[in-house]
Amino acid sequence: MARATIDYGIDLGTTNSVIARLAGMDREIIKNNEQGDCTPSAVWIDKKDRLTVGRVAKERLGSQRDQQDVAFEFKKRMGTERAFEFHHSGRQMKPEELSAEVLKVLRQSAERQGGEILRSAIITVPAAFTLPQNDATKRAATLAGFSQCLLLQEPVAAALAYGFQSESDREYWLVYDLGGGTFDVALMNMRDGMFHVVNHLGDNDLGGGDIDLAIVDQVLVPAVREQYGLDDFRRGNGNWAAVFGKLKLHAEQAKIRLSTQDSVTIEIENLIPGEDEFEYDLERSVVEELAEPIVRRTIDLCKEVLAQKQLGPANITKVLLVGGVTLMPYLRQRLEDAQTGLGIPLVSDRDPMTVVAEGAAIFAGTQRLDVPLEEEADQEAFTINLDYKPLDSDPEPMVGGQVASAGGDDLSGYTIEFANVSVSPQWRSGKTGISPDGKFFAQLYAEKGMENVFEITLTDAQGNTVKTTPDRLSYRIGVTFSEIPLTHSMGIALANGEMAHFFNKGTPLSCRKQRILRTATSLRRGEAGDILCIPLMEGESLRSNRNDLIGKLEVGVSALRFDVPAGSEVEVTVAIDQSRLVTMKAYVPILDEWFEQEINYSGYKENVLSEDELRKELEAEKERLEKLRQQVEETDDPTAQQLLQDIYARRMVHEVEVALGDAAQNRDVAARCESRLRELRIGLDRIEDALEWPALVVRAEKEIDVEEGIASDSQYDTTHEERRAIDALIGDIRRAIAARNPDVLRQKVNELDALGLGIVLRHPGWWVAQVEHLENKRHTMSDQSTAETCFNSARQAIRADDLEGLKSAVRQLWRLLPEGDPDRNKVGSSVIL
Ligand code: ADP
Ligand code: MG
Repeated sequence: MARATIDYGIDLGTTNSVIARLAGMDREIIKNNEQGDCTPSAVWIDKKDRLTVGRVAKERLGSQRDQQDVAFEFKKRMGTERAFEFHHSGRQMKPEELSAEVLKVLRQSAERQGGEILRSAIITVPAAFTLPQNDATKRAATLAGFSQCLLLQEPVAAALAYGFQSESDREYWLVYDLGGGTFDVALMNMRDGMFHVVNHLGDNDLGGGDIDLAIVDQVLVPAVREQYGLDDFRRGNGNWAAVFGKLKLHAEQAKIRLSTQDSVTIEIENLIPGEDEFEYDLERSVVEELAEPIVRRTIDLCKEVLAQKQLGPANITKVLLVGGVTLMPYLRQRLEDAQTGLGIPLVSDRDPMTVVAEGAAIFAGTQRLDVPLEEEADQEAFTINLDYKPLDSDPEPMVGGQVASAGGDDLSGYTIEFANVSVSPQWRSGKTGISPDGKFFAQLYAEKGMENVFEITLTDAQGNTVKTTPDRLSYRIGVTFSEIPLTHSMGIALANGEMAHFFNKGTPLSCRKQRILRTATSLRRGEAGDILCIPLMEGESLRSNRNDLIGKLEVGVSALRFDVPAGSEVEVTVAIDQSRLVTMKAYVPILDEWFEQEINYSGYKENVLSEDELRKELEAEKERLEKLRQQVEETDDPTAQQLLQDIYARRMVHEVEVALGDAAQNRDVAARCESRLRELRIGLDRIEDALEWPALVVRAEKEIDVEEGIASDSQYDTTHEERRAIDALIGDIRRAIAARNPDVLRQKVNELDALGLGIVLRHPGWWVAQVEHLENKRHTMSDQSTAETCFNSARQAIRADDLEGLKSAVRQLWRLLPEGDPDRNKVGSSVIL
């Protein structure tokens, strides 16, 4: 039978990967060649260059000889160029290449079972995946031989598989996903029949593996030392590396068994060569204690994801459980507990290890194949190019299309008929005529809650039935969901350290935005090293160095025809299309020239700091913490106090220090250290924000006064739209004040400021008045002789009615003002590097 929809879904996980298929309305997990549902995402290459994927590869981590020939958890490096080097073979593979090997194995299992060639699949990605990471996933699919690959966010897949439905867009639920090495929480709802990820947070270094490590370090290592009298038995001692690997594998198995048993015995033969068997009785309660800090961290993140949207547990209907670790009864108890956990009902009636792949398969059943199935290629058949939605809310959907014959036959007199063979009695559309060039149009009838399969019958002018490809189509009535929206906010890093956000998290693709920025320094033609650099960042923070660099538009000075003075306008446009290709364009009016750059993700090197740099940064943050601690004591601000206590309670400095201790050995740990450091930094930012809050509110209120003044002043021809935008922003500002949200408040005040400035800047009178206004501040300017020249050219420009000349003189005068003068912001808030 000719399949018309993709039907296959893949959960390409950090620890385990799963492939599922939609057969009719049923989801089927496809077993691997060991009859397992999950295939460990591990790749082993032996010294003869033979490549193995899955359980066997993962278990090599416990072998002294093979340990360095196994790549594991490469999904965490996805989107970077950091290759894994296999020790014995010397082979180097990038994360996307390793992922491709996993995908190939899954594809082969499916092909063996389905008896058909697989060229299309849905692959799930974490909601937190950045554009480079999504892109790398698509490249992995191509490498694995998939010519059509659509990405779906893991929480959306989970929600689909759990069959979540809601009539109200005010109903929210959480998808809680604790896997082997990563934690993700997504706040979701349904709007207009589509699933939306409203907000998401995660921790790329938190998962079941941390529980395994804790079992090894805190329980098994002391036991080994004692049982064999080994004083040098330490992690980091190269002699014992494989023993540690083996212990971790056994710790994981014990942890899994303790989800259904109260105690287990760990028995390892030949753990220490030549010694007796290692034996240890592990109690469930001990593992629960070790898991507690990890569980607490996830609960904190769940609360945070809600708080960011001004919601609390009471607003959430359900928590959908995803990821192997959620099989721990202790974790479920903790989440359900209203005092110490979330107190939200849990949904867990599906296997949390395969639920994401199931959802991917369900989604796959709604997506049309765009590559013909190879075994279908039949030279004599008529091909039908169908145009319809495989999934929609309409019980009487329209289907259109065009028939083409291999021999180019005239199709006059041909008819087409659709029969819904899934309903009883069968429903038939009746024969519909097609145009001589093969076009047709018909209305179908479908029923809810099932796959409606329509057989297609094409009849020639003599009434003979002729063979077609495809010969059927399938349709479901149900909810649809949006394409993957932007997973993180995106914008430009400004020279003053702020972030100019162009798009907010959740913006549907494709999108495009233009903003006018100004150069911070002057660029002299031909001057070596001078460069105009516009860094594109991904992330939520208003401080650009808290976000991730994903690419940049650079204009080498040798490319310039003239010098570009500081403060020159640059119109920056960022556009993202549905395939996530990002294009940055910059127009520099004084050069009348365009510069353009497509962001090439693979060219971007991940920024992992060296151990030394990490140490220095940690010292700087510790100093900042100390200063803030003193300030908090002095001001007695309860919010700041709470935030400070949080930093101590979560032992954030300690976490960085621990990670730093291990960073020397392993680059993955260095990455973890960096992420913990960033967390600490954001925590300190929040304290700073809390301390600055009163001043921020005063500034906001002043800003509202000024802009209301501008809006009602008839000399500025404020348009209706602008007035509406001002009112909307003022509303946002008042809400941000009420909710005490400094990030939003700062952003909205800046937007209002920019909007007002845009209005007054159109008005020549405003520029003339600026000259008088600046005259009063002349004595504060840094360079009196330049000031003199600028004032002269300003007055001359006024006499000559030369508005552009006047603007340029005023801009230069702003720059002469001392640091801290509010007028400097007029330049400073829109400056690029
Ligand atoms: P990922 O999404 O990272 O690929 P999975 O959802 O497959 O991860 O979860 C893997 C993690 O779940 C591993 O740490 C594994 O030890 C853990 N796990 C699997 N089954 C259980 C269980 N029954 N009890 C506790 N932990 C489990
Ligand atoms: Mg997973």
